[in-house]
Amino acid sequence: MSLTNQPDPEERRRVVAQDLQNVMHPILQHKALEKSQMVVTGARGSTITDADGTSYLDAMAGLWCVNIGYGRTELAQIAAEQMEQMAYYPHTAMNLPAARLAEQINTLMGGDYHTYFVNSGSEANEAGFKVARQYAKHEFPGQFRFKTIARHYAYHGTTLATLAAGGMGERKMKFEPFAGEFIHVPAPTCYRCPYGLEYPSCKTACATAIEATIQSEGPQTVAEVIVEPIMSGVGVAVPPDDYLPKVEAICRKYDVLLHVDEVINGFGRTGRMFGHQHYGISPDIMAVAKGIVSAYLPIAATVVKNRVFESFLGEVAESRQVMQVNTYGGHPAAAAVAVRNIEIMLEEKLPERAATMGAYLMDQLQAALWKHGITGDIRGKGLLIGIELVTDRDSKTQLDGALVGGVVEFCKANGVIVGRSGGGSRHSNTIVLSPPLVITRTECDTLVEVLDRALGHTVAKMAGAA
Ligand code: PMP
Repeated sequence: MSLTNQPDPEERRRVVAQDLQNVMHPILQHKALEKSQMVVTGARGSTITDADGTSYLDAMAGLWCVNIGYGRTELAQIAAEQMEQMAYYPHTAMNLPAARLAEQINTLMGGDYHTYFVNSGSEANEAGFKVARQYAKHEFPGQFRFKTIARHYAYHGTTLATLAAGGMGERKMKFEPFAGEFIHVPAPTCYRCPYGLEYPSCKTACATAIEATIQSEGPQTVAEVIVEPIMSGVGVAVPPDDYLPKVEAICRKYDVLLHVDEVINGFGRTGRMFGHQHYGISPDIMAVAKGIVSAYLPIAATVVKNRVFESFLGEVAESRQVMQVNTYGGHPAAAAVAVRNIEIMLEEKLPERAATMGAYLMDQLQAALWKHGITGDIRGKGLLIGIELVTDRDSKTQLDGALVGGVVEFCKANGVIVGRSGGGSRHSNTIVLSPPLVITRTECDTLVEVLDRALGHTVAKMAGAA
C-alpha cells in the first residue's frame, strides 16, 4: 500500500495514527506533530507536498541538504542499477562507485586528499577527531595531543563527542557532563561580537584567542582546531575575510591540524564548491555530508590531506591502519548516487548558481525587509542566509522567541518553509534560509514576499500587544 500524492483522507489518517503510536521524532515536541499532522508525500525542485495536497516552497532544502533539488528520478535509477549489480560489500575491499566518488572529491580539492567514507555529518566529524588523535599518536610519540579546540555556538553533530565539540548549550545540557578534551573559544559572530568590538579595529581577536588557548593548554596536548567556515546553526555567521587565514597560520605554527566542517557549507551552498575556498585555506581534515548526495541516500565522508593520510601507511605489523570501521561506509548504492549528484552539480554549475541566485535573493531581502524595525541584520553567502530579528536596532535586544516562532509559523501557513537557528538563547532569534540551489527567481520572489508579510504581521502583533 503506497501513500501517493493523491490525497486519500482515509489512508492519511491511518498513517498519522500509525506514526503517532510508533515513531519517536527528533528535535520537536510530539504535540506539535499531533497538531500539524504533516505527512510529506511528494517533492519536486524546491517544492514539497503534503498528503492533504498542500504544497510548500522548502527554503531549507530539508535540513540544509537537498542541494540539487527534489525529484531527480535518474538518481533512483542509478541506485537501482547499482543494487542489482552489487548492493553491498564492506569497504575493507574496493568498490567502483566509492573509488570514483573519492576521486571526484580529490579533484574538487585540488588533488592532495584521500577520503574515508561514513554515513552522516556527525560521523564524518567524529572520524575526523579520531584521525587527528591517531595521527598525533603516530607523529608525536612523546606527546599527548588529544584536545580539539572548537568555537562557542558551533554545531558539529549529534553524537556525544560531536556534541561536546559543539558550543550550543541548549543542545548539550541534557547530556552533560562530557569529557573535557574539547576546549571552546569565542566565535566570529560579528553582529554580536563576543568582545564587544568591531571589525577591523578588533584585529580579529577571536582568531588570536585560538593561539592564546593553544599556548595555555600546552601545544603538546592539542591535536586539532575544528571550524565550520561560515557557521550555519548559529544564525549564519560569516567571518571576516582574514579570520580563517589567521586560524590556519596558527595551526601551522603549532603543528595542530585544521579540521574544517563542510557538512552544510560544502557542495555549492555558499557559492563555491566548498565554503573554505572563499578564504584560500587548506584543510588537513574535512567533514562532508548533506550536499555530497543531496540527501538522496545516506553517505558522508572524512577527507584527509595526503600528509595526514601518509601517517596511516606502514607495514601490517606496525598497526598504523585507520583504527575504525563502519558497516555501511562506502556503500555502493549511496556512492553511485553521490557521484551522479556531483556530476549534476558541475554540469548545471550549481555553486555558481548559488552565488548569483544568492546575491539576487540577498538584494531582494535587503530591499524588502529593512522597513521593518525588527530586522536587525541580514547576512550570508550564496544561498546560506540569516535574518536576525530584534526588538529595536539600537539595543539589538533579541526578539522574543515566541514571536520568532510566529514568523516561522506564518511563513508555513503561507506556503513557505523557513528555518530558525539554534545556538542557545543568544542567537535563536535568527530566521535561516538554505534553499535548494535550483531555486528560481520567481521562488525567491515568493520567499521574500511571504517573509515581508510575516515581519509586517509580527510588527503589527507587537503594536497590538503594546
Ligand atoms: N556539522 C554541521 C555544520 C551540521 O550542520 C550538521 C547537521 N546539521 C552536522 C555536522 C551533523 O550532520 P548529521 O546530521 O548528518 O549527523
